[in-house]
Amino acid sequence: MRRRKPAEGFVLGGIFFWTIIAHLISSCLAIQLEERMEIVRKVLKEVPLIDGHNDLPWNIRKFLKNQLREFRFGEDLRDITPWSTSAWSHTDLRRLKEGMVSAQFWSAYAPCSSQHLDAVQLTLEQIDLIRRLVNLYPQHMALVTTADGIEESHRSGKLASLIGIEGGHSIGTSLGVLRTFYQLGARYLTLTHTCNTPWADCCKVDEPGRVPHIGGLSHFGTLVVTEMNRLGMIVDLSHVSVPTMLDALATSKAPVIFSHSSAHAICNSSRNVPDHVLKRIAVNGGLVMVAFYPHFVSCGEKATLKDVVAHINHIRDVAGVDHVGIGAGYDGVNLVPQGLEDVSRYPYLFAELLESERWTEEDIAKLAGRNLIRVFRQVEQECSPSINRYHRKIFSAARTVATRGHARDEPSGARVATNRPLFHTPSNESTNSRFRCTRWRNQVSSTGRSPPSEVTPGTGSTAGSTSFDLFIAYHAHKSTQRYTQTHNQTIRCPPGKGPTT
Ligand SMILES: [Zn+2]
Repeated sequence: MRRRKPAEGFVLGGIFFWTIIAHLISSCLAIQLEERMEIVRKVLKEVPLIDGHNDLPWNIRKFLKNQLREFRFGEDLRDITPWSTSAWSHTDLRRLKEGMVSAQFWSAYAPCSSQHLDAVQLTLEQIDLIRRLVNLYPQHMALVTTADGIEESHRSGKLASLIGIEGGHSIGTSLGVLRTFYQLGARYLTLTHTCNTPWADCCKVDEPGRVPHIGGLSHFGTLVVTEMNRLGMIVDLSHVSVPTMLDALATSKAPVIFSHSSAHAICNSSRNVPDHVLKRIAVNGGLVMVAFYPHFVSCGEKATLKDVVAHINHIRDVAGVDHVGIGAGYDGVNLVPQGLEDVSRYPYLFAELLESERWTEEDIAKLAGRNLIRVFRQVEQECSPSINRYHRKIFSAARTVATRGHARDEPSGARVATNRPLFHTPSNESTNSRFRCTRWRNQVSSTGRSPPSEVTPGTGSTAGSTSFDLFIAYHAHKSTQRYTQTHNQTIRCPPGKGPTT
């Protein structure tokens, strides 16, 4: 017994010593963290923190059927059912403020199950919801549609609220609907969600055992991208297949974004961006806004803040610090990384990055918002005025023809406006092939022209028409052919029947 006493004293002394050391280390780390958090707060006061994707509007639909009088956005939703019990809820105004979020792209999303059904209506209702939500909180939120607007809103201390449409099926294969969404304030369109559209493949076709539907963008898909460029709307490539990414990058004259995707080299989810595309993004001037969903971050159900840091660093390594941003995807996921539990946690992510000497305050400012503002400005500058006259002429004529009818040459030589489309968009084709064929034949017979497939662009005028009309018709016909081939359908024109409408 006598011999044990020194041993007990030694053990107790050791425990005491190591407790003190551990305490010193942890308080030292806490001081370091607090210092880094101070830097982050300073940066985020100067530069708006912009998040590329938040699905709160869909949760309001899911939980409250879009009845905003029941939505207490200004309160802590962790105390209010059904939000408090839902794994899908990470957002309220208080926590956005705590997280120093200055601008948020709210997702106007319609599920793929609504494609070819009521997708356009659902998307309109979600846009309406976002606009009503902003109007309900004028002290705290402002609807923003420009890069300047983000900065103004940041200065006034309001949350800049931007609208992004998630899924090309939302436009119902209509450039008219796309333009109307833009008019209503939408500033990006994600070309697909988790379903192929008639004009773009989604990322699911890249998965093992799956085959491409189109193999990227169809001709109409390239028109969508070009029209978005013309409007000044950001092309979003999250959710699309790699060939669609490449086609969009080859088509777009403006920088593109990934509103919520991560690095494929770290987690090989088809939702992530491969390195060769990251390199193209750097050339394009675009941006990958890193998503936090564990399945994209660690390829599993669990992830940590450090895992997200690894994605940010990888994108920086491959594309550069000018091409990385944040697009957490809160409220659209039921799993979040440890340390990034909700919208209040962004500053901790930046503080973690600052632990490495590689990240300067300027770099943090770029990641937080400067990169997105730069991209948005370039997209705005690429819009209509800078598109050359040739393209503007083509597309304004194509729009008129596709949506409002065309000017038809009468045998007398007079040009007569008709409300019949000269050709049909794939939405018509997909729902009514007979409609298209009879219309097409009617057009040919009424003008007495040769079928446009025999027309070569730029071959000069043909009797009763102009080469420009025929150029449009030729490309429309080629688009139709491609669409038909893609779907491997034989379209038969029933003989002897007139137009169906
Ligand atoms: Zn998504």
